[in-house]
Amino acid sequence: MEDRIKEALKEIVGADNYTEQLIDMVSYSYDASEHHHRPTCGVWATTVEQISRILEMANRERIPVIPRGAGTGLSGMAVPARGGIVLDLNHMNRILQISIEDRLAIVQPGVVYADLERALAQHGFFFPPDPASGKVATLGGNVATNAGGVKGAKYGTTRDYVLGLQVVLPDGRVMRTGSHAMKSVSGYDLTRLFVGSEGTLGVVTEIILKINPKPTATSTSMATFDNLEDAGRAVSQIMHSGIIPSVLEILGRDTIRAINQNTDLNLPEVDAMLLAETDGYTQAETEYQMSKIMDIFRDNHPQQVQQAQSEAEAASLWKARKSAYAVLARIKTHFVLEDVTVPIGNVAALLKGVEEIAARHEIQIATFGHAGDGNLHPQILYDGYDPAEVKKMEAATADLFRLAIDLKGTLTGEHGIGLAKAPYMTLEHDAAAMEAMRNIKKLFDPNNILNPGKMALEG
Ligand SMILES: Cc1cc2nc3c(=O)[nH]c(=O)nc-3n(C[C@H](O)[C@H](O)[C@H](O)COP(=O)(O)OP(=O)(O)OC[C@H]3O[C@@H](n4cnc5c(N)ncnc54)[C@H](O)[C@@H]3O)c2cc1C
Repeated sequence: MEDRIKEALKEIVGADNYTEQLIDMVSYSYDASEHHHRPTCGVWATTVEQISRILEMANRERIPVIPRGAGTGLSGMAVPARGGIVLDLNHMNRILQISIEDRLAIVQPGVVYADLERALAQHGFFFPPDPASGKVATLGGNVATNAGGVKGAKYGTTRDYVLGLQVVLPDGRVMRTGSHAMKSVSGYDLTRLFVGSEGTLGVVTEIILKINPKPTATSTSMATFDNLEDAGRAVSQIMHSGIIPSVLEILGRDTIRAINQNTDLNLPEVDAMLLAETDGYTQAETEYQMSKIMDIFRDNHPQQVQQAQSEAEAASLWKARKSAYAVLARIKTHFVLEDVTVPIGNVAALLKGVEEIAARHEIQIATFGHAGDGNLHPQILYDGYDPAEVKKMEAATADLFRLAIDLKGTLTGEHGIGLAKAPYMTLEHDAAAMEAMRNIKKLFDPNNILNPGKMALEG
């Protein structure tokens, strides 16, 4: 990058908000995936005007710009695949407004999910998507990735709560989408187009979010099953029983075994464990919902069924699920955490298929995830320093994606496409859909400066 560009960037954001120090370039070169690539420099923007000027210049000079939140993405979405300028949005971290009367919050993109949660809790409200990375991930990142979490089956994902956005387009123009109203059918839904666009169409600089009154009561239970089909049937029966649990999580046998090997939880080593939670505004309401779930558990040959009688018991039932990711991450030198999603009725088939893939490629795959919306997390564990193991991981990943599509599902329910799943986009999307996506990219970003190299948009 020419010195005059670097000087112009310093002039726009101030010398203190510009960096090309090695420590920053290394930090910006990766996210929570296995992908790496260094940028040339980074800037901490603090105003919309600065972002507009940076993009206008980058567009004129054909320099890649990569918007970045907390860098917790699991698919290489924020990795600067073509170098360029990292546009760090963490300093734009103000909650601009909370309006309980209008049921909305307006935030800058660098606000951390948990900070908004804390602010809303004071009013008895919450923002439901609840990604597991919420303690650090930013709302700008959540919007750009359409983040979801354990409550997805009942409350949906980020997309369901974004009423409107302010976005800076690659040529520097500032655009507003949506409105402050709870609903709108005014024109094409540009807001939804930007949600989940992984920083490839524009930089999100302001977000209007719908918020919900926070449930005040919960009930929690757990059941174990010796047979995957029984667990799968229980999931499907719960989801069409007339109630919607706020949580319905599943742990597969390999995950349970790994938890036992690395903690003192001493879980029964069964085919599947289900964790259910119901929520509401009275205990009677949540208990009614939970009684339906308990009946379904009992009808499906469980090995064990337990309902928490106190908050402490509920916390202990949650312990296994909450420890899964961290326990599995420590077993081998490397892992990939996938997030394939299938129709709810195919959850058992997906779990079985994952076991077959693991056996076929002689590689360890441990699965847990959100059974209630069919979004599972097969975690493929391998030694990244051993080329033979890397090959097995790649072959298993490809088979996993094919399996998800065969089961009428999708490559990703949460973690996005980024670099990691770009080669598989055509498995899921036909030629016409790919062409439409590529044309949308060209319409907003004809010079391909915004987060280039992602989502197979260049084919
Ligand atoms: C331990 C762990 C648990 C996780 N659990 C979940 C989970 O439960 N659910 C889930 O959905 N995800 C989960 N994730 C993935 C990740 O946390 C989410 O994708 C999150 O939304 C990313 O936010 P971020 O601020 O880290 O964004 P980054 O990783 O910095 O960026 C992600 C993408 O968003 C773009 N972007 C960021 N900010 C903006 C902006 N203002 N404008 C335009 N584009 C922007 C970037 O260019 C990039 O393409 C998890 C990750 C980890 C490591």
